[in-house]
Amino acid sequence: MQSNEQTQDSGKTVLLRGLKKRCPQCGVGKVLKGYLTQREHCAACNEDLSTIRADDGPPWLTILIVGHIMAPFIHYFITHDTFPLHLELPIMLAMASVGALCLLPYAKGFFIAAIWLTRRKK
Ligand SMILES: [Zn+2]
Repeated sequence: MQSNEQTQDSGKTVLLRGLKKRCPQCGVGKVLKGYLTQREHCAACNEDLSTIRADDGPPWLTILIVGHIMAPFIHYFITHDTFPLHLELPIMLAMASVGALCLLPYAKGFFIAAIWLTRRKK
């Protein structure tokens, strides 16, 4: 367990901890309980996370990433007649939905870490 007064981890380290859904300060405790519910405090170092509100950041980042991943598939489906339209739409919807649901918790952890990083004492 490290405290801010002893050593300050680099921004990259803090953001990587966030991507792993870990506490931005210690990297040990989890920042989410369940799928997306944010913990009030880190279980390992008791860092207060209750004032951090990621709000619309995680969905924005998720849509940005999933949209870029989906773009080549959408282009392929439009330009090739591989599947009939009534199969293409469910396939693309399933790919986008699964991609978004998989990425969203990691995006939330990333944003919690990024917000924590901007508030960290120098
Ligand atoms: Zn912690």
